[in-house]
Amino acid sequence: MTAVPLNETHDPARKSWVESANDPAGDFPIQNLPLGIFSCGSEDAPRPGIAIGDQILDLVEAHKLGLLPNSLPEEAVHSSSLNALISLGQPALSQLRRHVGEVLDAHQSGEGVRSHATRLLHEMSACKLHRPTSISNYTDFYAGIYHAIAAGAQLTPDDPLPTNYKWVPIAYHGRASSVQVSGAMVRRPLGQRPPKSRGEAPGFGPCERLDFELEIGFYVGTGNPQGTSVQIGSASKQIAGFSLLNDWSARDIQRWEMFPLGPFLSKSFATTVSPWIVTAEALLPFRVPALARRADEPNPLPYLFDSEDQESGAFDIGLRVLLSTEKMRERGDLAVEILNSNSRHLYWTPAQMVAHHTVNGCNLLPGDLIGTGTISGPTNAELGSMLELTVGGQQPINLPNGERRTFLLEGDEVTLQGRCERTGFASIGFGSCAATIVASP
Ligand code: CA
Repeated sequence: MTAVPLNETHDPARKSWVESANDPAGDFPIQNLPLGIFSCGSEDAPRPGIAIGDQILDLVEAHKLGLLPNSLPEEAVHSSSLNALISLGQPALSQLRRHVGEVLDAHQSGEGVRSHATRLLHEMSACKLHRPTSISNYTDFYAGIYHAIAAGAQLTPDDPLPTNYKWVPIAYHGRASSVQVSGAMVRRPLGQRPPKSRGEAPGFGPCERLDFELEIGFYVGTGNPQGTSVQIGSASKQIAGFSLLNDWSARDIQRWEMFPLGPFLSKSFATTVSPWIVTAEALLPFRVPALARRADEPNPLPYLFDSEDQESGAFDIGLRVLLSTEKMRERGDLAVEILNSNSRHLYWTPAQMVAHHTVNGCNLLPGDLIGTGTISGPTNAELGSMLELTVGGQQPINLPNGERRTFLLEGDEVTLQGRCERTGFASIGFGSCAATIVASP
């Protein structure tokens, strides 16, 4: 673990006067302070907030009370998306984090601040959480090498890991309009299914192999002008923060449509993100070296290589996927964990993804969403999709109540969770990224 520029906002001893934030099992202690968009009640305008314990700090009210940095432009806070705020870049987000940390600190904040608690805080469970940014572009990478190997064995058995894989961070352009926030239903897509045998017509109807993909998403902060490239050494500064991302996938539609131009309708019907953006600064204590490459693997090309990125450009985020079926909920059974994984298994770092994405002069915009690709690990318990867990639908998974699944059925609720833990630091979490499957129209 290399030295990273930590500050008082990471101090594990720091406590908040918001009592629920001091629960060590919680996702949102004072060391986290993730950004989101929320509203309370149907008449209420969506606006920026920061999660603290089981509460949301209202940034509009905090701004009115003069509790935020003076340099923060009003339009960055009075907005229904985080685009203007995160476009200010990491130094501005860092300053905001310091100020909010002081406002919520049990020892630093005065009675004056706390007397405004009812104005500043809202019960998270009573609020609606919205998509955090207005997303102009969504790109999904394919940086989970264990997923690429396992999924490739199902989809392209003759060439499971493409020959370009260890040279090029592979990605496709996803659909920004159908990115939805945790809690929104996912409708089973209709589409063409592969012919049963060679020469026959394809089938058509509801997808029969509906799947999830466990991923991390990250949001672009300042962005870059068209015609310019973001250098690898500064690429991590382009990232405002991270969330969980479920890239819903219709495997039958995908298998039939994806050659030669990649996935299209098999992915574009829905992508679910968790509502909170955990800032790059909050994640500093959990940075780890990039995945080690074996001696027989190529070094990244110079535009993808930076020694600091190699030393600390990856992230140690523990990930899990929970499944709850309709029958389980009817009987009051808890959701069951069907896999766990970790973002350390990614072959490319987020900075490498940004450098690669822009090397041709492509412009990233504030609020753009970038997915890492499915994050599987090397063992059978760490496979990041049903496709892999069930070996292409051949080996169903058995649930504790006797139900079995190859792919997802109506009423199934899939929940992604992420949590960072390191000795000497406060644990932080991402909240939930959950959605339930409903039938095709
Ligand atoms: Ca994906």
